[in-house]
Amino acid sequence: MAQHEQVRVAVIGSGFGGLGAAVRLRREGITDFVVLERAGSVGGTWRDNSYPGCACDVPSHLYSFSFAPNPDWPRTFSGQEHIRAYLEHVADVFGLRPHLRLDAEVKRMTWDAEALRWDIETAAGSFSADVVVSATGPLSDPKIPEIPGLDSFPGKVFHSARWDHDYDLRGKRVAMVGTGASAIQIVPAVQPEVAHLTLFQRTPPWVMPRVDRAISAAERRLHRALPFTTQARRGLLWGIRELQVQAFTKRPDELGLVESLAKRNMGRAIKDPALRARLTPDYRIGCKRILLSSTYYPALAQRNVDVVASGLSEVRGSTVVAADGSSAEVDAIIFGTGFHVTDMPIAERVVGADGRTLAEAWKGGMEALRGASAAGFPNWMTIIGPNTGLGNSSMILMIESQLNYMADYLRQLRVLGGRAALDARPGAVAAWNHKVQERMKRTVWNTGGCTSWYLDASGRNTTIWPGTTTEFRRATQRVDLAEYDVIRAPLPSGTAGEKTADAEVGA
Ligand SMILES: Cc1cc2nc3c(=O)[nH]c(=O)nc-3n(C[C@H](O)[C@H](O)[C@H](O)COP(=O)(O)OP(=O)(O)OC[C@H]3O[C@@H](n4cnc5c(N)ncnc54)[C@H](O)[C@@H]3O)c2cc1C
Repeated sequence: MAQHEQVRVAVIGSGFGGLGAAVRLRREGITDFVVLERAGSVGGTWRDNSYPGCACDVPSHLYSFSFAPNPDWPRTFSGQEHIRAYLEHVADVFGLRPHLRLDAEVKRMTWDAEALRWDIETAAGSFSADVVVSATGPLSDPKIPEIPGLDSFPGKVFHSARWDHDYDLRGKRVAMVGTGASAIQIVPAVQPEVAHLTLFQRTPPWVMPRVDRAISAAERRLHRALPFTTQARRGLLWGIRELQVQAFTKRPDELGLVESLAKRNMGRAIKDPALRARLTPDYRIGCKRILLSSTYYPALAQRNVDVVASGLSEVRGSTVVAADGSSAEVDAIIFGTGFHVTDMPIAERVVGADGRTLAEAWKGGMEALRGASAAGFPNWMTIIGPNTGLGNSSMILMIESQLNYMADYLRQLRVLGGRAALDARPGAVAAWNHKVQERMKRTVWNTGGCTSWYLDASGRNTTIWPGTTTEFRRATQRVDLAEYDVIRAPLPSGTAGEKTADAEVGA
């Protein structure tokens, strides 16, 4: 029988964002919450991306929660299975299991302006919650481009984030579409076993060597015995990236030196000048995410690999055809074509105070106050919302900042007392986004001469944070009530929730 649960907080998603929110709620003394997850286990990104070679681009000691350090990371850069195991461990150690509602895909959530709460329909019953924390991830819904003829392709087709482990690639002719972060990890992992690999590249990435090594037993013993050494290691990794980001945000012109290092990296493996030319980007390094690999270029230099410097445009039977007319016959097509980022699918499923969906509200582009809350969607916030992404550091730092904001949001609601909700003021949202977009103007992501998934359909960068993680931490330390309208539950004889300016509330 379908169940109904009423809770203080509903968290959606059980990746780093959702699990982090759950830990933080418990630390704030809130135990009346659920974590709604569409899959059958926790892990988000690191559960769904199980493709060969999947690993993190940020060192392990930085790509983990500050409140759950792991002295036993086996490598400097973690593989998918270790990060997934870490998140399972977090769920156990912090007592999150009783809160998890797995196989509970959220289909729709609607703001009830009378009761001041969200009605949530899921695949596992209905819920109502005073506050929703949406942590559905910016990279969780795979995107496969519409390619004419793909439907009638007789072979195997899958996306990198939904890897088909039952399909044996050995001896197959494979088309890999895309050259982003996932594709450059997949290519060297599958190249030795496939008969032939045709790589469709619309834009070449900048690739730097990946300095990955096993963390020695002695290092791990040291971290276990003296936990401050783990913190120090994390601090160092963070500090280096905090300095690097200045070049991306303020001085993109100075990135030429990094480009020559990347070219040298390519030159070491790619001896054929024609191939080198095809692989050399024509935009500023950093404009798209800088990728780390020491095996990608060597794999491309192998005889069973063809790099087509053009996107896949058509499929004719078992023949894949590029926009430049070149073609190949293949047994399987693997899409490494990214995710629905600037058109977050969850936004279609959130119905706000005036009956509009968040997707409708964001028709002109996503925007939120401090990356968290949207006007007209009271008591709803998102983790890794608009303009909270990073080009060079660990997303866990941004997630933890947003968790500070979430914790203060809930504290403020408690202080207000009674039944109350906070609704971001349109003026505050606009002012925040104006500031973000002004800072964005001179960043490498906007000036570097590339088209990336950081930009939405209109060319606006609604994904990246144009500053340091420290600046974001400061900006999200506290909820400023002046940026919100406070909504009070109507009196029993009243009609609808009454909006009150914060000044009056504080009086
Ligand atoms: C291949 C890959 C490599 C990456 N590498 C790095 C890296 O090196 N460094 C870095 O900082 N970041 C990296 N990222 C980004 C990574 O996504 C974030 O760092 C982080 O893991 C995001 O956590 P999250 O909890 O916000 O989202 P996710 O981990 O995506 O979790 C979202 C969860 O929400 C669930 N969900 C979605 N919709 C619904 C719904 N309607 N109902 C219920 N549940 C739902 C999903 O099933 C999922 O479990 C990478 C991403 C990918 C895909």
